[in-house]
Amino acid sequence: MAISLSDRVIRFLCGPEVGRIRFTFPEAAATITINRAMYGRVAKAIKDHSIGIFPATDPALIPPGSSAIYDGSPAKGGTIFIRAGKHWGRDLEGDLVHECTHAGFDVDKLIGLTALTEEAAAFVAEALYYRMSHFSIPSSWVVQNVARPVADRLLHQYQAGNTPIPGIDPATFNALLAVIPLRPTYQGGPAATGGSYVHNG
Ligand SMILES: [Zn+2]
Repeated sequence: MAISLSDRVIRFLCGPEVGRIRFTFPEAAATITINRAMYGRVAKAIKDHSIGIFPATDPALIPPGSSAIYDGSPAKGGTIFIRAGKHWGRDLEGDLVHECTHAGFDVDKLIGLTALTEEAAAFVAEALYYRMSHFSIPSSWVVQNVARPVADRLLHQYQAGNTPIPGIDPATFNALLAVIPLRPTYQGGPAATGGSYVHNG
């Protein structure tokens, strides 16, 4: 029997590779943690139907340049749209890690987080997933390639095993923060103008 897209994403979020993603990063005076518990809360929100996942092609739902997007709504809940017709594979899985990171910030009510920091953290999680699953990031994926050294430093720390949840390397993370606002996808949007995304929990 075919399983639904939502069930497949829930299974993926609770799997061993996503379960290894873990890091902290600073935001203003706070330290934010991304780990398997956060992805577990997103999986629960999907299971409870407070977060929906749908394929889409309508530019009003998914911008032409995007392969996936998380849309937080002012009311409770949110929606992940993925490009219709995209096959399940490492590429799509990385997109889901990225969007589920945004969803996690929403579920965790991190309303003070800027859109730029959100994007940077989501790209680090996505790049970590690609590195751990031995997917080679295409050279045309500019932001993921800038996120890669951040991810590689975290992987070194995982291997060293000295810190349960390592912090991101500030220098490579700052380089990532610098490149995102310059990308066409983010120009004019909150990640480029200092704004925040909609959060509702
Ligand atoms: Zn994003």
